Amino acid sequence: MRFYIDELEVLFPYPRIYPEQYAYMCDLKRTLDTGGHCVLEMPSGTGKTVSLLSLIVAYQMHMPEKRKLIYCSRTMSEIEKALAELKALMRYRTKELGYTEEFRGLGLTSRKNLCLHPSVKREKSGAVVDARCRSLTAGFVKEKKERGEDVDVCIYHDNLDLLDPSNLVPTGVFTLDNLLQYGENHKQCPYFSARRMMPWCNVIIYSYHYLLDPKIAERVSKELSKDCIVVFDEAHNIDNVCIESLSIDITEDSLRKATRGAGNLERKIEEMKQNDEQKLQDEYQKLVQGLADAGTARDEEAFMANPVLPDDLLKEAIPGNIRRAEHFVAFLKRFIEYLKTRMKVLHVIQETPPSFLAHLKDYTFIEKKPLRFCAERLTSLVRTLELTNIEDYQPLQEVATFATLVATYESGFLLILEPYETEQAQVANPILHFTCLDAAIAIKPVFERFASVVITSGTISPLDMYPKILDFPAVVTESYSMSLSRKSFLPLIVTRGSDQQTMSSGFQVRQDPNVVRNYGNLLYEFAKITPDGLVVFFPSYLYMEMIISMWQAMGVLDRIWQYKLLLVETPDAQETSLALETYRTACENGKGAILLCVARGKVSEGIDFDHHFGRTVLCMGAPFQYTESRILKARLEFMREKYHIKEQDFLSFDAMRHAAQCLGRVLRGKDDYGIMVLADRRFQKKRNQLPKWISATITDGQTALSTDAAVGMAKKFLRDVAQPLSNQANERPAYNEKDLQAKDSWSSKDLELHQRIMKGRRAVGGGDEGRQVPNEQSYMPTAAAARDIAMSGTNSVNGSAKSNGAGARNEYEDEYDEEVDDDALLAVETMTDVQGAIGTTL
Ligand code: SF4
Repeated sequence: MRFYIDELEVLFPYPRIYPEQYAYMCDLKRTLDTGGHCVLEMPSGTGKTVSLLSLIVAYQMHMPEKRKLIYCSRTMSEIEKALAELKALMRYRTKELGYTEEFRGLGLTSRKNLCLHPSVKREKSGAVVDARCRSLTAGFVKEKKERGEDVDVCIYHDNLDLLDPSNLVPTGVFTLDNLLQYGENHKQCPYFSARRMMPWCNVIIYSYHYLLDPKIAERVSKELSKDCIVVFDEAHNIDNVCIESLSIDITEDSLRKATRGAGNLERKIEEMKQNDEQKLQDEYQKLVQGLADAGTARDEEAFMANPVLPDDLLKEAIPGNIRRAEHFVAFLKRFIEYLKTRMKVLHVIQETPPSFLAHLKDYTFIEKKPLRFCAERLTSLVRTLELTNIEDYQPLQEVATFATLVATYESGFLLILEPYETEQAQVANPILHFTCLDAAIAIKPVFERFASVVITSGTISPLDMYPKILDFPAVVTESYSMSLSRKSFLPLIVTRGSDQQTMSSGFQVRQDPNVVRNYGNLLYEFAKITPDGLVVFFPSYLYMEMIISMWQAMGVLDRIWQYKLLLVETPDAQETSLALETYRTACENGKGAILLCVARGKVSEGIDFDHHFGRTVLCMGAPFQYTESRILKARLEFMREKYHIKEQDFLSFDAMRHAAQCLGRVLRGKDDYGIMVLADRRFQKKRNQLPKWISATITDGQTALSTDAAVGMAKKFLRDVAQPLSNQANERPAYNEKDLQAKDSWSSKDLELHQRIMKGRRAVGGGDEGRQVPNEQSYMPTAAAARDIAMSGTNSVNGSAKSNGAGARNEYEDEYDEEVDDDALLAVETMTDVQGAIGTTL
């Protein structure tokens, strides 16, 4: 369908549009017009990506001088999906317009996924693929080849040099598969083709890290111009990505390897002195001029501001004491030796960067300034020495990056020295966490550099939290309801078992046999009534293991097995992948299965359980973080001081965003249906912190339920959705606003009517088009739901953003002591447990 938003003609590749999609586009356009940043929450399965692409491509085509789109997503499958949507959109535009537009859309992922070299692509590890690729493609390797020396090069890379650099791939949209195929057919490297073509693309789709990790962003994204539109999709975890990209862990082992790396560098320098001293001299001369001329191929204007190396440093000369290669290596060795002595700790030590630097200076006379240049100086040396086996120098590089960061930032970071790697460990294995506490540091260059940054996800409530923790002004924050012609999901909050005893995963009661039995009973009852797949999320691996073994002893598992197969997610990626495969097979062929997994694990974030793969999702306990973790405590303290975010507000927000992610797994479209069970008394008070599209549908009758009541409601829901779906409301012509409200999707005519109504309303001083739509109760499926929203206060103009912010505070305060104490006492759970959950890969 084709329609206008103000003066902008939008081509949308479907015959009908959801009201929330239209509202989303209006808000997006408003953000682009204003030239600011926004936070938009769009329900799962309502076509967020296609709405976003349709609007932005229309915008680009309307104003060709404007903007490239940089679309960042999390996983390769999400990148591929977005590319496929873009391709379908462009196909539709061509058909509608009658001609093919000059347009190029490419995706970029790691070398490991895009390499074509016969032996390199067989390597299993991404780091090895990168290293081997570098050894075949480095400039000096090519020079040697040109001099006639016998060195291996990559023909796929060499062929690129024979092509027009602005036309390595033709116009059009290439999915990753298309790009691989094109590379194979034309014998050219897909990875470098995509990277080099970025300045000539209208749309680039790649992973967050290409923009957020300063070390990667510098190499890949430095040439992107300022007027780009940046979108972070599935951005509910973006603060953690930012923090991880700037945090470093150093162990005794890595220091040993760093020493070895420094020794190798010394030998290489000696060799070069014997054979080609001029190269070292040349490097020295360049470093005297400053980093900008040091052969690092920096482009003054287009270079992305880098938190590791602020722009102003580029203009400075490298300090004299680290200019000569041998002096620099001696300097690094001294720094490593100092770190080794600091590792000999018996108690935990926490230090700020200034205090660390003061101690360092007292003991070693190492100054702050040369430390700041360490990362860049090492990069320059590695290049001068023509080293190809870069992965051997990884630990040394970590030390150098640490040196640069610790000397650059006075606040926003903390050093934590721990004698034991985990809390249960008996043998000392000291670890130095250099942890970033401020998510805003990594993303700051992105907000400063690009005119419009869109933060969007299906679960990003409360909306005002992200502008706070990422420290940016948002011109639009909006959360959309889901228009439904029938109730396709049923959220239930279960607080009691069949015996009326309170259910919770809080520390004080979590081992109580009655609570465990009640959880087991809840699972058993839902296993009985759920057709096909049932997914269960626990707050942590340790809790899941404990509860499973107690269920085994109680005979609960034997009862469940009568109805469904049970499979479990583990920290081992391969095991989990096998469990998932078996689960899917059981859902396809048999009575279905139950998958037991962990909130914050890979299953909770990256895997969809659409249709029969997930008819019920059960959250067994509220997924609060382990609050005794020193890193988390430090981050909470930092956020309280810098951004005035209370600990309890953040912990509660974090638990609910992960719970919402778990719930969203089972509803992947409007034709899908599922039951969402939140089983913990603590969810009762937090329901308004769920995304609006979920919280708005929770009526009072769906809260504070016992197991029996929940099962009764679920049975009724399943009976209702089993009835044939009538599409009458959508098919009937709409004559007024009431008719429109009854529909969950609009035809072109419906949309025209809606626009006319809005225009009339604006003429008499009503709200503007984009904002008015989703916040009216018109999109609520039933009158009861609308009443509910009114009660919960989410129908105000700024929706859940406001009601979930200040309005909810008193509520947190009331329950904070009880709630956080619960979790603070989780001494049995270690940080590695939580990290393990985050780190699991499938
Ligand atoms: S240049 Fe491309 S094809 Fe060649 S090794 Fe590197 S990634 Fe593989």
